[in-house]
Amino acid sequence: MTPDEFRRHGHAVVDWVARYMAEVGEYPVVSQVEPGAVRARLPAHPPEEPEPFERILADLDEVILPGITHWQSPSFFAYFPANASGPAILGDLVSAGLGVQGMLWATSPACTELETHVLDWLAELLGLPETFAGNGVIQDTASSAILCALLAARERAADGALTVYTSTQAHSAVEKAVRIAGLGTDRLRLVDVDDAYAMRPDALERRIAEDRAAGATPCLVVATVGTTSSTAVDPVPAIGKICRRERVWLHIDAAYAGSAAVCPEMRWIHDGLDLADSYCMNPHKWLLTNFDCSAFYVADRAALLGALSILPEFLRNAASASGAVVDYRDWQVPLGRRFRALKLWFVLRAYGAEGLRRHVRHHIALAREFASWVAADDRFEVVAPHPFGLVCFRALAGDAVSEGVVERVNASGRAYLSHTRLDGRYTIRLAIGAPATGREHVAAAWDAIRDAAG
Ligand SMILES: *Cc1c(COP(=O)(O)O)cnc(C)c1O
Repeated sequence: MTPDEFRRHGHAVVDWVARYMAEVGEYPVVSQVEPGAVRARLPAHPPEEPEPFERILADLDEVILPGITHWQSPSFFAYFPANASGPAILGDLVSAGLGVQGMLWATSPACTELETHVLDWLAELLGLPETFAGNGVIQDTASSAILCALLAARERAADGALTVYTSTQAHSAVEKAVRIAGLGTDRLRLVDVDDAYAMRPDALERRIAEDRAAGATPCLVVATVGTTSSTAVDPVPAIGKICRRERVWLHIDAAYAGSAAVCPEMRWIHDGLDLADSYCMNPHKWLLTNFDCSAFYVADRAALLGALSILPEFLRNAASASGAVVDYRDWQVPLGRRFRALKLWFVLRAYGAEGLRRHVRHHIALAREFASWVAADDRFEVVAPHPFGLVCFRALAGDAVSEGVVERVNASGRAYLSHTRLDGRYTIRLAIGAPATGREHVAAAWDAIRDAAG
């Protein structure tokens, strides 16, 4: 494709995406296709000869769109949001256009320096402590960040049978990291939670003491700010004190909720972060930055680098040897890396701090209003605190009714909900966070829920 052809087809693709953005609210939110239906419409063999670009583009409408669940729909309330935005999409386009591979500072200095710089900007916007300044890196996901935290914690820990602690409500990525790192699931301790589903520091203290008495070496605590099930906030100041005293690495997983800290009134979620060894939040969830972009910070980069840097001859260069630069290949599991900082840079500049705050506040206010509707309806109850955009609720008539509501609403295409279990009971999750979601969409979802409840 020549540059001129690229310009022509590129305009057509941008038009296609712009039309999609304008119309996304009109599709059934959940894809209605049966398993195998998308593949059945694709040719069995790759084309032998080049195909016209127009034909490829036409298949987006014909083959791909029916198999899309519309995460950007204003009526998408399942899981957590995965925000896309114009500035982020364009930043990703520029990243693809430049096509650089930023494994080393020397392989494209701007790729590394912009990343360090925008992560410092982000740290300032989120009110992160000074300990993280200059020590940020973009990972693909929060799962990778947890794995990196574990590898760094292991690097710093004394030898022995290492143990890892997180709450019963923590994300499954913690267990996955423990398995990948080769510790084994039997080294993972799931600590009890309180009535609000937040980790109990006294229970953590007791588990650590029991393990020490048994000769184990406590290595890592993962505290969650905004759990995936119900957005519970673990008491980081108390947990941090225990970790300091026990000399255990403390990682804070704020994958979803961290974005809320752009608002000063939500900064309390970051209390105690100065006691943390590492921290992660996902701009790709609730901060208008397309997947993938997970911001990971460490207070002590030496442990991370000790765990992950290996220097084969073919990567040796003068800039690295001088120690004057950061080589991000040493801060992650893979070697290669895309220029992901561009999209975050575009987002932070195009929205500004005030634009980001408006985005988050809007969803928090909608969640509060939705919760008030649920609380006022005698068929339902709100079952967990809702400081962010997620409301957890259930039908008083029991699990089967709640489950039926989710099934019927999702099948209707009017909205998309997900569920969890809290205290063993089926719980409906309605997570507000798509950029296009307005009050009318939340109200329509509530209508759909009440219709489904019969
Ligand atoms: C979403 C989420 C994760 C996993 O995020 P990925 O970036 O997809 O790995 C981890 N922890 C919490 C609390 C989450 O909400």
